[in-house]
Amino acid sequence: MELHGFGVGTRIAIGNAVRMPDPLPTPEDVAFRGDVAAEQERAKAAIKLTQSQIAARAGEAEGSLKEVLEAQSMMAADPAIEGLVTGAIEAGKTAERAVYESFQQFADTLKAMGGYMAERATDLGDVSQRIRAQLAGVPAPEVPQRDEPFVLVAVDLAPADTGKLDLDKVLAFVTRDGSPKAHTGIIAAEKGLPAVVAAAGADDIPDGALVVVDAAAGQVIVGPTKHQLDEARAKQEEQAKIADAPIEPGALGDGDPVQLLANVGKPADSQPAVDLGAEGVGLFRTEFLFLDRSTPPTKDEQVEVYTSLMRPFAGKKVVARVLDAGADKPLSFLNDSAEANPALGMRGIRILRVRENLLRDQLAALAEARDRSGVELWVMAPMVADAADSDYFTAVGREYGLEVVGSMIEVPSAALVAEQVLRTSDFVSIGTNDLTQYTLAADRVLGTVANFQDPWHPAVLRLVAETGRAGQATGKPIGVCGEAAADPRLAVVLVGLGVKSLSMAPPALAGVRVELRKFSREQANEVAQRVLAAASGDEARQLFDDYVAEQG
Ligand code: PEP
Ligand code: MG
Repeated sequence: MELHGFGVGTRIAIGNAVRMPDPLPTPEDVAFRGDVAAEQERAKAAIKLTQSQIAARAGEAEGSLKEVLEAQSMMAADPAIEGLVTGAIEAGKTAERAVYESFQQFADTLKAMGGYMAERATDLGDVSQRIRAQLAGVPAPEVPQRDEPFVLVAVDLAPADTGKLDLDKVLAFVTRDGSPKAHTGIIAAEKGLPAVVAAAGADDIPDGALVVVDAAAGQVIVGPTKHQLDEARAKQEEQAKIADAPIEPGALGDGDPVQLLANVGKPADSQPAVDLGAEGVGLFRTEFLFLDRSTPPTKDEQVEVYTSLMRPFAGKKVVARVLDAGADKPLSFLNDSAEANPALGMRGIRILRVRENLLRDQLAALAEARDRSGVELWVMAPMVADAADSDYFTAVGREYGLEVVGSMIEVPSAALVAEQVLRTSDFVSIGTNDLTQYTLAADRVLGTVANFQDPWHPAVLRLVAETGRAGQATGKPIGVCGEAAADPRLAVVLVGLGVKSLSMAPPALAGVRVELRKFSREQANEVAQRVLAAASGDEARQLFDDYVAEQG
């Protein structure tokens, strides 16, 4: 059996499938007519047992997982929860329904508080599921523990689950739902974990079946033939060779340089990026530091964190993006949750223009961190729509002594007037994740329209070409920092369209570095022009492969 979905990363994995238990259904709201006291005792016992299991796991865990488990254990031990549950049973609910409703009520209260508290609501949902699994005598819906490495198969994975995956045990994951550009996909890419998401039919993968997960092809082979297995093993060996290839500066085969940079979000990301040969940072997603807070960090706090993130890159380029709050990255102290279409609302530079003090604090903190760490700091604004946004941002940036101030090209309008944007911007960096979502009018986090999130789409590539032309005309550098830069073949096309630097999740650097060296400048330009004429993303990929085959 072969399944198709959307690949994250380019690696291939072979292993036995282990299914994550499905989320428990919502318990029916039927009147409870049994012994109320006994039902209350049953609920209390399940809560207590679950709490001690979580506490035991917290005792063995480390780092952020330990913190989450400790918080969950405290939630389960909270007498207020027990009071709600026993009260609901008294009022005629079953233990399962009482647990469901009580936790829901608690979670709603936390969500209303916003920020850090709202984040914890997801953890509460997890505790509720565990208690209900205990009551029903079924396994809790969590990542199973195994002694041997395995391929995880799930309906979907929350970003928190993905962040916690043990890379020594999980070889790859396959989900029925999800979208490659949602944060689960981005976290998987950061970890270098191959995945295929939105794979229809994933529900039919039997537990224990041997599977091949080919992220580059977006394909899952269940029960491969000997031939398929041999092919997969050969690809794996090839990939191992690429990963072990010597680290050289990024360049095309004839030496034309292409800067290879890292996408980072927190200080712990920096050293591993340097170790994988990142020549600097092409996208520092600063909002990751603000995500779980109900108030903005002070300028001093920002200076601390930015400095420790920048230090490993002393002497190198670091492109920091100012806060991109909104849509898929809402910040409780900035965004209005009542927006019907947040991706089209107050996000990125739009909201910073209104809350200018936040922007000013951040720019001051970035400038100070630059001085302390000794990096070559570039700053850029997200969600720039046109030259008015870039003029504004550059003017404010200059007030803080920032020498290199640029704009992201994520909105199609900005790509179309890139030359005007570059009148004041010192550089632009194309965010292909958002550029794809806005060009194809398809929400990047929605699994049902995941098939539109294809940066090979010629409409997206034409906007990249337009931006490349503007770079040529103004002599200013054009980079790409969306996930497209991590696809080795697409990286060649982007360079052929005039892109001078590529920034990606560090595990992708080796594959892109090796692929670029296979093409001369002339070949990269030629294949890019061919691909532009395609009618679809699939046709674009085919035209690329045809060109490579022709060239022998
Ligand atoms: C992008 O949109 O391509 C990008 C790099 O920014 P983010 O994914 O953080 O929105
Ligand atoms: Mg973006």
